[in-house]
Amino acid sequence: MKIANKEISAESLVREALEKVKKYADYNIFTFVNEEGALKKAKQIDAAISRGEKVGRLAGVPYALKDIFLSREGDTTASAHILEGCASPVTATAVEKLEAEGAIMIGRTNLDAFAHGSSTENSYFGPTLNAYDKERVAGGSSGGSAVAVALNIVEFATGTDTGGSIRQPASFNGVYGFKPTYGTISRYGVVAMASSLDCIGFFTRTPEDMDLLMSIASGQDPKDMTTLPDYYNLSTGSNAAASPIDANPPARTIGIVKDFDNDAVDINIRNALKEKCELLKSKGYEIVELEMPVLRYALATYYIIQPAEVASNLSRYDGVRYGFRSEKSGGLNELYENTRNEGFMPENKRRIMIGNFVLSSGFYDAYFLKAAKARTLIIKEYEKAFQKCDFILTPVSPNPAFKLGEKVNDPVAMYLEDLMSVSLNLAGVPGLAIPAGFAPDGRALGLQLVGPRRSDKALIEFSKELR
Ligand code: GLN
Repeated sequence: MKIANKEISAESLVREALEKVKKYADYNIFTFVNEEGALKKAKQIDAAISRGEKVGRLAGVPYALKDIFLSREGDTTASAHILEGCASPVTATAVEKLEAEGAIMIGRTNLDAFAHGSSTENSYFGPTLNAYDKERVAGGSSGGSAVAVALNIVEFATGTDTGGSIRQPASFNGVYGFKPTYGTISRYGVVAMASSLDCIGFFTRTPEDMDLLMSIASGQDPKDMTTLPDYYNLSTGSNAAASPIDANPPARTIGIVKDFDNDAVDINIRNALKEKCELLKSKGYEIVELEMPVLRYALATYYIIQPAEVASNLSRYDGVRYGFRSEKSGGLNELYENTRNEGFMPENKRRIMIGNFVLSSGFYDAYFLKAAKARTLIIKEYEKAFQKCDFILTPVSPNPAFKLGEKVNDPVAMYLEDLMSVSLNLAGVPGLAIPAGFAPDGRALGLQLVGPRRSDKALIEFSKELR
């Protein structure tokens, strides 16, 4: 708005953002800085405004792009050696929509390679540091994006969330992070992790910004068969009359999950949850305790289904078609082997092996098929819960940001980080991480709001009650 009214120029905003990129270089947030491209676009927008032309809703707004979205600005590496030097021939639909409204990409952000992880320590480029404590992790996999928004370098950043990769780093850095209902934003042009779980979303500092971005980026895309038509805007707002959600009265009952409130959860997070419940009660909301025993199986289910899909999605990286190729000599099989061995991070390899194991003919029934059945039970568990309440409020993870190096050599400890986030992806329901103050030692705290499918807009709207 200020840009369109000529109060500030797009160029000065972009220059300011680029300055901050330099100032915070030690946080290791960016894998690529789009200095030239961003300044060129800013000048074009300023020129269009001075000619009196109409500009988009995000004209001149600097943003950061998780380095897993394809576009022609910078190579898309997914923070993995195997994709280094691979220029993209296409642009992701989400990026196209943001840029059509005039948003300007300042840089690509660091992540756990191929989005495998919860700390950004699995990145080929090294870890990103937490915005509030440089000895702690940024969370992951979208760590770079979360810190870029938390440190005010950009107005917003994109992320992907397969099992918590937007919500957990958002909560570790005190910003909003949204994983929409599955299929709300097109996955076209985003490097796939686990296709039935992957969701595109954003990091912002306010719910208002989140709402605007969702209304811009959502919608059906012929290039992604799982996208849903007008899904986001149908929930409330201009099309309210047509929406089943709006036929109901506004949210009044909020559920909390009994299993997620015990000694295994950090006391600061439990206190934050209590405080928010008190706030809601004082505003006239009813709090109900939910028994959701099936969620106990969510983590095990996720760590079968997700690696199975990872193994098939990563099979395409063979050293022939994309990016890096091993220099070692040998025949075709050796070329594949050496490239994959040198190009993937240890965590990528672990998932490829688990995935192929659970899909193998001898073990398919025992693991993959069973997990697929458990997934259906999890979907039903959420359906049941939403008969008793409008939204659910839970922690995002069992603890706030942990120390760098603390869990990176212990895969199971790292997987346990995802205990409270993965069930949403398995069920396809939306989840919004909201800031919830700070622990006495200065670490950011976050909570997550969960809604039924199609409730995305109402969920973001409701989060304003918890500010
Ligand atoms: N931390 C989870 C994992 O390692 C989720 C990652 C993600 O959402 N991309 O699988």
